[in-house]
Amino acid sequence: MANAQPQPAGLLSNARFVASPNHNARPEGSEVSLLVIHNISLPPGQFGTGAVEQFFCNRLDWQAHPYFQSIEGMEVSAHLLIERSGALIQFVPLHQRAWHAGRSCFEERENCNDFSIGIELEGTDDQPYSDAQYASLVEVTRQLQQRFPGITDARIVGHSDIAPGRKTDPGPAFDWARFRAQLLHAQSQQGVRR
Ligand SMILES: [Zn+2]
Repeated sequence: MANAQPQPAGLLSNARFVASPNHNARPEGSEVSLLVIHNISLPPGQFGTGAVEQFFCNRLDWQAHPYFQSIEGMEVSAHLLIERSGALIQFVPLHQRAWHAGRSCFEERENCNDFSIGIELEGTDDQPYSDAQYASLVEVTRQLQQRFPGITDARIVGHSDIAPGRKTDPGPAFDWARFRAQLLHAQSQQGVRR
């Protein structure tokens, strides 16, 4: 199925776009130079419910599950969500500021939302992520590094790294060594070493 439509700015062609209202402009002069990896599942530990998509679009029925009352009214988003199948959903154009990091600091610079891309893995801190999620994350990371060279390998972090004591995701279940090895492999196949 050919799609002759030009790709709108800031959208990845391999993602399904679901527009979230929870974003705004990055401050003048903030270059994207950080990738933040998160996890989310709603209700926690349940996958494929569609609730994350609804949450990021302010369409979640707060009464549908007792847990939802603890997040009622929150307006948050991430640029991207990788589902358990590896499928990619984009909520916010990459050049816009998504609301994923909250109070945060990387190398003495605060408010990481200003200069980062946020990727949510559908999951929890302690359940292994799927092979498809690692593969998809590696692929999208390569795409982002090509588009934003400021995202060097050293500037790929977990939410827990930029909000220690407040956030724990992506948690001990996320295998950083595996991710970094797969990323290195993908980079070398593209002839890119960083
Ligand atoms: Zn997070």
